[in-house]
Amino acid sequence: EFVILREHLAESEDDALAAARHVADKLIEQLSAPYRLQGLDRVCTASLGLVLFNGHGHTADELMQRADLSMYEAKRQGKNTTSVFDPQMRTALATRLQLEAELRSALGTGAFAIHLQPQVDAGGRLIGAEALLRWERAGHGMTPPGVFIPVAEQAGLMPDLGREAMALACHELARWGRLPGVQERVLAVNISAAQIYQPGFVEEVIALLARTGAPAERLKLELTESLLLTDIERAIEAMNRLREMGIRFSIDDFGTGYSSLSYLQRLPLDELKIDRAFVCNLPENANSLAIVRTIMALAEALDIRVVAEGVETAEQHACLLDNGCDAFQGFLFARPEPIPAFEARLSAQARADRALHQPAFGPDRGR
Ligand code: C2E
Ligand code: MG
Ligand code: MG
Repeated sequence: EFVILREHLAESEDDALAAARHVADKLIEQLSAPYRLQGLDRVCTASLGLVLFNGHGHTADELMQRADLSMYEAKRQGKNTTSVFDPQMRTALATRLQLEAELRSALGTGAFAIHLQPQVDAGGRLIGAEALLRWERAGHGMTPPGVFIPVAEQAGLMPDLGREAMALACHELARWGRLPGVQERVLAVNISAAQIYQPGFVEEVIALLARTGAPAERLKLELTESLLLTDIERAIEAMNRLREMGIRFSIDDFGTGYSSLSYLQRLPLDELKIDRAFVCNLPENANSLAIVRTIMALAEALDIRVVAEGVETAEQHACLLDNGCDAFQGFLFARPEPIPAFEARLSAQARADRALHQPAFGPDRGR
């Protein structure tokens, strides 16, 4: 990110804006010219946020925040464009700052919880869950991550938030160990880039496992493709160290980012999660179906398993089964639910498993 400061643009606000836009257009044009790097043609896009000011009515921080906000608006509009700060953005900014302040003071107070969404195998048997963060926000009830994660990312709070989620998940995993018959289920936790690249992340996870008594082999970390691309070598190193402890890895929202096949092979992976974007168009959409089949073939070649996310209909489920997928997560089976509801489900599954394994004609039967 770069900041460009231009002085003495024009007398009137309209002319100043026109002049600023002119500069922005020239910049985007120059930046988008193709160039050669190591023998390859490359192109680069830029998103610009403009903010006009006159005099000292605002602090530098305020101006920077407004420019930042406009830049995010430009990205939202599809990138490679310019966006000008307008007063509506100010309302959005005020809301965001309010949310950020609340989020900051909520950390460490027990205001966060995880909801668990079941994952099932081809026979509908419960094989584990994904932990999804929820914020019990005063006056707003249970708030989903779509509301607060973007704010936390911008505010640099993701490491703290991720730590809360991970601690909640490990405590829960340790509890499963004390429920009869549910020991082999796996709990998946989402990890953000801000977390995995933090110095000491690996040590922190190891310490958390030791403190809670959660079994490492039952913990699965979900990473995204874009996260891995930030610094693939460091990510691989961290993953390998955690993998040695028995922790598993999954690539979340697979197919929506830019995976390079060569690095997939280098990662200590156990699983790919087919993104909801492909599942939701099954079985009619030929492109989605082709992508799903490609992911299945890729996973088979790499000898890793596939979980389909966002399965909502019996038709989607049948199509995925037909194509060799044998693990599922989605509203068709269950929504993310509070811990007690999920634990009841776990116990029911354990009872069903025991009933299945009970011999039909044991020595005590029929007496
Ligand atoms: P994700 O990891 O891809 O999680 C799946 C999301 O899809 C969840 O939304 C889940 O409720 C939703 N979902 C599951 N099945 C269905 C379905 O059949 N239909 C539809 N329409 N949606 C379904 P949620 O809980 O709102 O989480 C959104 C995202 O927030 C997650 O996407 C994940 O990227 C992020 N997130 C959640 N918890 C954490 C966390 O502890 N740490 C980090 N870094 N990110 C988290
Ligand atoms: Mg996930
Ligand atoms: Mg996902």
